[in-house]
Amino acid sequence: MKKIILTGDRPTGPLHVGHYAGSLKRRVELQNSGNFDEIYIMIADAQALTDNMENPEKVRQNIIEVALDYLACGLDPKKSVLFIQSQVPQLCEMSFYYMNLVTVARLKRNPTVKTEIQMRNFEERIPVGFFTYPISQAADITAFKATTVPVGEDQAPMIEQTREIVHRFNHVYGETLVEPNILLPDNSACLRLPGTDGKAKMSKSLGNCIYLSDTEDEIKKKVMSMYTDPTHLRVEDPGHVEGNPVFTYLDAFSCDEDFEKYLPEYKNLDELKAHYTRGGLGDVKVKRFLNNVLQDVLRPIRERRIEFSKDIPSIYKMLEQGSKIAEQKAAQTLAEMKSAMKINYFEDKDLIENQAKKFSNSN
Ligand code: ATP
Ligand code: MG
Repeated sequence: MKKIILTGDRPTGPLHVGHYAGSLKRRVELQNSGNFDEIYIMIADAQALTDNMENPEKVRQNIIEVALDYLACGLDPKKSVLFIQSQVPQLCEMSFYYMNLVTVARLKRNPTVKTEIQMRNFEERIPVGFFTYPISQAADITAFKATTVPVGEDQAPMIEQTREIVHRFNHVYGETLVEPNILLPDNSACLRLPGTDGKAKMSKSLGNCIYLSDTEDEIKKKVMSMYTDPTHLRVEDPGHVEGNPVFTYLDAFSCDEDFEKYLPEYKNLDELKAHYTRGGLGDVKVKRFLNNVLQDVLRPIRERRIEFSKDIPSIYKMLEQGSKIAEQKAAQTLAEMKSAMKINYFEDKDLIENQAKKFSNSN
């Protein structure tokens, strides 16, 4: 069986270090490993419209931002198909059929949807499109016969829902679709990177992000004003590293060489954590170190982003070509689905012949 990757992002803003840690970095490594037969990276504009329907301009403007972030991080259109969801109409058709395989009760139980509904204060006014987006996400994954979906932890319930749909489809209509596997980051700090405000998740919609496109000054300002341990008031007080986003970011982004370079009095993060926990280490010193670490990660990304932004028309051309390739693949899967579902009337010679016989006999 072919090894195929599908993953993507909503164009609701430029991408942030949570995306980088949770999914983007891994994608680039997988792309360059040469271990995959096909790689599809989707800009999920149709999904973004499910909770931004009154703001299509926001979605439209952010397509290029996401595409630039992709290229800047090292996704390569020669190795990966980069495409825009709405340009692959087969995905809507598939979602429509999958809706018959999922109950309202099951959707209501989805923990990610539950949290996101709360976050957006939808209450009873939740758009049907938003409520059913796990179904459309199942279409995105299965259309490409993806075996591997590299995402952050918040996406786990979506992959589970997709696997259930695949099971049900194959059970009812015969073996057609491929069950995907989630690929979570190895580093547990990257599973769900918290926001700079200490909230559980860095998220475009919460405005607590360090963006891949932020300038050196913006990064520094955000790091220096980050939420830390509220009980660590004076330098000599013992501090907490758990639930302290400054240390979570260090878990996610720092390595021993960073200590050698910027903080040689400590060998590694364990030593720094021990000192902080004991007391006698100020937040400013830790934040300055984190700033140095993040600047080193983000500088090359930002510089490549500026280079790519010099030729915007060619990026749209690349996305157009990618969308065509994605459409061909999705059309192939949809044809197989329709044949399994027995809604391929005009291609089914037996159906036409048998019915012709039946009616000629009865005449
Ligand atoms: P929105 O607020 O519009 O939902 P978002 O910031 O949650 O935006 P998405 O486009 O929904 O971003 O997520 C894209 C991918 O990035 C998913 O694989 C998701 O798991 C991952 N991701 C997003 N935020 C984080 C985070 N804070 N930590 C780890 N992974 C993340
Ligand atoms: Mg999200």
